[in-house]
Amino acid sequence: MGAIYLFDVDGTLTAAKSKINPSFAADFFEWMGDKEVYIVSGGSFERIVDQIGVRILNQTEGVFACMGNIFYRNKRTLSKYSEWDKVYENKFTVKKPKLFFSELEREVMKSPYPIKTGQHYEVRTGMVNFSIVGCDATPEEREGYAIYDDLHRERLQIVERLKKKYKGIDFVIGGAVSIDIFNIGNDKSQVLNNYFKEQLKHRSVVFVGDRIEYPGNDYSLAQALRGYEKGQAIEVKSWKDTAALLKTIRFEV
Ligand SMILES: [Mg+2]
Repeated sequence: MGAIYLFDVDGTLTAAKSKINPSFAADFFEWMGDKEVYIVSGGSFERIVDQIGVRILNQTEGVFACMGNIFYRNKRTLSKYSEWDKVYENKFTVKKPKLFFSELEREVMKSPYPIKTGQHYEVRTGMVNFSIVGCDATPEEREGYAIYDDLHRERLQIVERLKKKYKGIDFVIGGAVSIDIFNIGNDKSQVLNNYFKEQLKHRSVVFVGDRIEYPGNDYSLAQALRGYEKGQAIEVKSWKDTAALLKTIRFEV
């Protein structure tokens, strides 16, 4: 039996928060044809559909959305349209939610970065997505913050500060501008325990992501996978790397 392939979305199959490049979409769809593919993304199911399109989505075996906090399995019915089974769903819990969210707001106020567009956190299934620049930022404004953050490592400092303060909660750098927040253990690595553990005994599982280095949001899954003889994690810098990767021998495991 061939390998099982897991793909991150933002920065791996698409540019962050963007739709997949049409010519890559066609190549990827064709590549998927005879393979078992799952999506493991920080985004919601709806956003993933919007980014990679229904055609690719229907060709996957399942979608782990919101950092693996909710899993939809493709029922593979004979109908033209896929039907999805919700297999499990987690909840994000924090002791004093009001205080916690005002702490996030304080981080926004404290940041010297001048452009703050509002809607700085979004509660998703089992997680919170947080950013200094805000959800309403234009692609140019997001790009501006990504450059600023590369230079000043602001997200890294916020992550370290909040981690010390909130013991049961984890904070990781996700996407181009945001920080993903969840209860410890409810990160992308949970997909192994929840779903792939048995299969890893006899099949290779390959994960492709762009944030495999600590404290990136692919780190936990990459680390956990590397603990298995049949696990493999590959880092890419963008979807263009992924496109090139699909053509290499190294990928054929
Ligand atoms: Mg990513």
